[in-house]
Amino acid sequence: MRVLIVEDDSILADGLCRSLTQSGYAVDNAAHGENADHMLAYQNYDLVILDLGLPKLSGFDVLKRLRQRGGQTPVLILTARDGVADRVKGLDLGADDYLTKPFDLGELEARIRALIRRGQSGGSAQLGVGKLILDTAGRRASVADQPLDLSARELAVLEILMLKTGRVVSKEQIMERLCNWEDDIGDNAIEVYVHRLRKKLKTCDIQIRTIRGLGYLLEQHDKP
Ligand code: CA
Repeated sequence: MRVLIVEDDSILADGLCRSLTQSGYAVDNAAHGENADHMLAYQNYDLVILDLGLPKLSGFDVLKRLRQRGGQTPVLILTARDGVADRVKGLDLGADDYLTKPFDLGELEARIRALIRRGQSGGSAQLGVGKLILDTAGRRASVADQPLDLSARELAVLEILMLKTGRVVSKEQIMERLCNWEDDIGDNAIEVYVHRLRKKLKTCDIQIRTIRGLGYLLEQHDKP
């Protein structure tokens, strides 16, 4: 899942980038409002963490422009401003959640998961297809209660495919959500991750089909 952090405090931004990357997100950082506005116009994100006091363009303006363009990306405002008026304004402009600094990292991450889920999987922290269960909070997957040994990237690809179970996901869509702007995974990397996932899911009632020219599709199949 790809997250944009809009934060001009570089120490806080670096800390957030590090923790969220460790938790398996692909993270970009915009240090001022104009930059954030450009990135949001150009790139799809699964979530935006938005500071309000920003150089060049305020957080409120970034949010307003995003929603005016029809952007549906969930937005979590993370700010030192704890006044009710700011909260109300943020939510009225289309923010989905509001957290004030100082904040607890565990709480922030729980809210991030909740917001991403709300948009994609209808609210549960656990994704399940057949015997395959992916716990998005604990970052682990299992088949019939047997844990699967997956790398962070394999887990991320599996999550993207599971969220779209039964539908085709293109390689570009996977790539876009897997990497930030600094990452450069080669063209074949997605194929490699899918190949490894298939091997690890071999004994399971799940298959990942290649739809030629379009992408991949995860579905349950009935094994004899
Ligand atoms: Ca600020």
